[in-house]
Amino acid sequence: MDDLEKLNELTEGRPELARLVQESLEEIGACRDGEDLEHARIRLLGKKGTVTGLFKGLAGLTTGDKKVLGQTGNLLRKLIEERLDEKGRELAGAARSQAGRALDVTLPGRRPRIGHKHLLTQVTEEITSIFVSLGYQVVVGPEVELDYYNFEALNQPPYHPARSLHDTLYVSRKDPHRESPDDVLLRTHTSPVQVRVMESRRPPLYVISPGKAYRKDEIDATHSAMFHQVEGFAVGTDITMGHLKGTLEVFARKLFGEERDVRFRPHFFPFTEPSAEVDVSCHGCGGSGCAICKRSGWLEILGSGMIDPRVFEYVGYDPEEYTGFAFGVGVERVAMLKYAIDDMRVFFENDARFLRQY
Ligand SMILES: [Zn+2]
Repeated sequence: MDDLEKLNELTEGRPELARLVQESLEEIGACRDGEDLEHARIRLLGKKGTVTGLFKGLAGLTTGDKKVLGQTGNLLRKLIEERLDEKGRELAGAARSQAGRALDVTLPGRRPRIGHKHLLTQVTEEITSIFVSLGYQVVVGPEVELDYYNFEALNQPPYHPARSLHDTLYVSRKDPHRESPDDVLLRTHTSPVQVRVMESRRPPLYVISPGKAYRKDEIDATHSAMFHQVEGFAVGTDITMGHLKGTLEVFARKLFGEERDVRFRPHFFPFTEPSAEVDVSCHGCGGSGCAICKRSGWLEILGSGMIDPRVFEYVGYDPEEYTGFAFGVGVERVAMLKYAIDDMRVFFENDARFLRQY
């Protein structure tokens, strides 16, 4: 006969005692962790606990009752101790097997998310690498720039009308009422790199310069206060408009496809003369006109021109000896054309669902 059977026999006909035994064992059975178990131990076996209370009730009882109650108390204490130990072992085993599952080396691994380059970085690298393959060297310049490099040495001295097109963001100005070549600004284009390179080196120069530029533009589907450009220029003793056209035709076809037509449209830039904007035939319609190209059949991709002799004078080159061409490509524009994206803001919203597609 085990302890529980003996207890059942002792408490037969004494329902309050039988209930006490049952409730004590149920309390242990309901424990879910070591903390529960410790609380149960105190409530059942502590100084003010169930078993102690049982012995305290012995005084004033008849000898027969004392004997039954005493035996019940002793047996119950023994049973509670056994059950508490048993439950403790059970809970420890469960915790071990839980930990074992967490370390199960036979489970298949979880694939970590792998990042990749932002679409604008990919396009910048693609543009840059086309020119590197043509022998150009990559040079980068500061984004915080002096007025002198951003405007004046690019043939736009203070109060030149072309400056007003730029909506410049200033970092500091010598005199808020007067434009000065010493003003510090966020470059409005990547062209200052031309001046910096020509100032410090002698031709021949074949340079490509990717980077960010800034303008005080309202942000909408086709404008951003920060945008990316790739500047390129070549300077030598006999560089002609023919070299400019040949180079940019090769570039446009490598970037957009060999089947694309390329055309040059006269334009104006203060630091090139003559100047031309370059278009490629529309990928949507092949040139016949559609919504993408606004019925023109052409898509503008960059601005270019022969470097103005005034720019050579600023950097100390003899305009009689040297000629050169320069161009600037808008990276966002190229990415939008290449990937049929109609809103520039998606590049900067960091929505991983969009970025993961490319
Ligand atoms: Zn079209």
